[in-house]
Amino acid sequence: MIARRPRGPSGPGAGRGLRRRGAARAAFLLARAWAFFWASPWTFLGLVVALLMRAAGGHLRWTQGALEVSVRRFRPGRRCPFAALTLGHVVIGVDRAALARLRRHERVHVRQYERWGPLFVPLYLLASAWAWCRGRHPYLDNPFEIAARRDE
Ligand SMILES: [Zn+2]
Repeated sequence: MIARRPRGPSGPGAGRGLRRRGAARAAFLLARAWAFFWASPWTFLGLVVALLMRAAGGHLRWTQGALEVSVRRFRPGRRCPFAALTLGHVVIGVDRAALARLRRHERVHVRQYERWGPLFVPLYLLASAWAWCRGRHPYLDNPFEIAARRDE
């Protein structure tokens, strides 16, 4: 027996359902476009860093809503206190393994950029300064980092 694909809705309300889905899709695309635009000043800086790293032999890869950049030979150490850093929709990592290990954490930061846009870095730095003034750790006790660890 040949299975037929179910037909779409028919009848007087069918057009309304399709229009509603189309409107929901348009609203989703508009929200995504706004998120990219709002985060774009930091994404632009991230792209500059990405292109410099690419010129130095780095690897670029678009995955899960962000451009990941790594330089294989680069290792964290005294000169580099971080394994990955997010700038808008660009995630810079010391190597691909670090990018894979920290992907969920850094995607939380991407969403924070999408929410706060150009304000994100100043707010992040203020939050670190506030934590430090209260005798807390400026990185570990930064609320943006706490949220990233919680939501990763
Ligand atoms: Zn983080």
